[in-house]
Amino acid sequence: MIEKKYSELKQLLNEGKITPTQLTQVYLDRIESVDPKIKAFLRIKPSEILKKAEESTERRKSGKKLSDFDGMPIGIKDNICIQGEYTTCSSQILENFVSPYNATVIEKLLSHGFILFPGLNMDEFAMGSSTENSSYQVTRNPFDTQRIPGGSSGGSAAAVAAGMLPVSLGSDTGGSIRQPASLCGVYGLKPTYGRVSRYGLVAYASSLDQIGPIANDLSGIEDVLHVISGKDNRDSTSLSLPEISPSNPISLKGLKVGVMKVADEWEDSVKEKYSSILDELKSKGSELIELDFSLHDYSIPIYYIIATAECSSNLSRFDGIRYGKRVDQKKKLEDLYLDTRTSGFGTEVKRRILLGTFSLSSGYYDAYYGQAQKARVLIRKSYEEFFKKVDVILQPTSPTTAFRVGEKTQDPIQMYRADVLTTSVNLAGLPSMSIPGGTDEKGLPIGMQITVPSFEESRLLSFARSLSDWKSLEISLPGKIS
Ligand code: GLN
Repeated sequence: MIEKKYSELKQLLNEGKITPTQLTQVYLDRIESVDPKIKAFLRIKPSEILKKAEESTERRKSGKKLSDFDGMPIGIKDNICIQGEYTTCSSQILENFVSPYNATVIEKLLSHGFILFPGLNMDEFAMGSSTENSSYQVTRNPFDTQRIPGGSSGGSAAAVAAGMLPVSLGSDTGGSIRQPASLCGVYGLKPTYGRVSRYGLVAYASSLDQIGPIANDLSGIEDVLHVISGKDNRDSTSLSLPEISPSNPISLKGLKVGVMKVADEWEDSVKEKYSSILDELKSKGSELIELDFSLHDYSIPIYYIIATAECSSNLSRFDGIRYGKRVDQKKKLEDLYLDTRTSGFGTEVKRRILLGTFSLSSGYYDAYYGQAQKARVLIRKSYEEFFKKVDVILQPTSPTTAFRVGEKTQDPIQMYRADVLTTSVNLAGLPSMSIPGGTDEKGLPIGMQITVPSFEESRLLSFARSLSDWKSLEISLPGKIS
């Protein structure tokens, strides 16, 4: 059962061939057998999850299903609030924090009958590219457990790749859905900024964050995106947009596909895969148009100035008074703040708070933050120019395949470069998805990133649909995990 795709499971549920209880049990068993090796879940409460599944089974039995998704299991990254559940962001500072309310995306999933599997591991406060910054555990890549699953939604991607769930939610600030999806051989979509409410997502960098789905097939992405989208009065940046139409394969003939020059820093296998996919597109009649991405070389510095500035402000709320952990040695109030934050935050989070505070401080604001905002506009404009010439952009998602645990932890800059192909999309607010793009000679997944103009998710999904039967892009998820 665990090798089945989301679309097959949906069909089995709706034909009554499997009950939500049975399906949930399949996944709970799988989690019990493989998660000790993968460590995607920070915690799991089987009896509570099963109870919800039984309620769903009852609804279906009595003809009162909430939707076609009633009874479908979905994993939740640990920075999305679920009422009555821990929401730790994989940080010590929130180790005992229980959310008093549901995020809007959670309300929406529940109203459609999805069965929530909370507690997926992540980099602390979503800062990282390998899930090694979790203060609790390192999640492993199901294709090779010596390697990282990517990050920061590493738990969400690894759980789907290991067959522990058909679909999950992650969050993407600079690549955190797409990069782990790529390294784990699954689909992962970052919606247009504003399509999905951020209410109840613990903020990292508010002008960049979006929640999105990770799934083992395109239908899973499509259905979950459909359910979680929509304007929400509790998030003033959310937008009311036309509904996303169901995807239909589009003709590749005559399609204008924006492409980029292969870069030296990409691994050879990524270069080769990308070139061969472009050849295949050409042979099917697509017009390949090379775009000038030279400005995007600056997207990493721009992103790290803006993201750290916003995080230094967002994370100021964790002061030991209002949320989570408190270290009170009965000294002065300042000491309470200092001691709580010193022991509650990990190294990378502290580094970013320092960087962000510095670039926002008077005397440096204009030189760093102000400049970065201006440069961000240039990135956005460059995409506007691109989309005057092309219908979609196709690039690799990540310059490398999954790297070894520990390989980049000593060198933050190396780690930051893992997102060299993903961050500019967030700076421009565009929708973008990583799809499976075949494997390298070691059997490690390669991902391809499709980007389209804002609000054009339908185009994105339809283009992906046209590629979904390509043998060259297929990745079979690992059944056996060692
Ligand atoms: N790796 C990037 C960072 O560390 C992106 C993270 C994300 O998208 N949440 O900030």
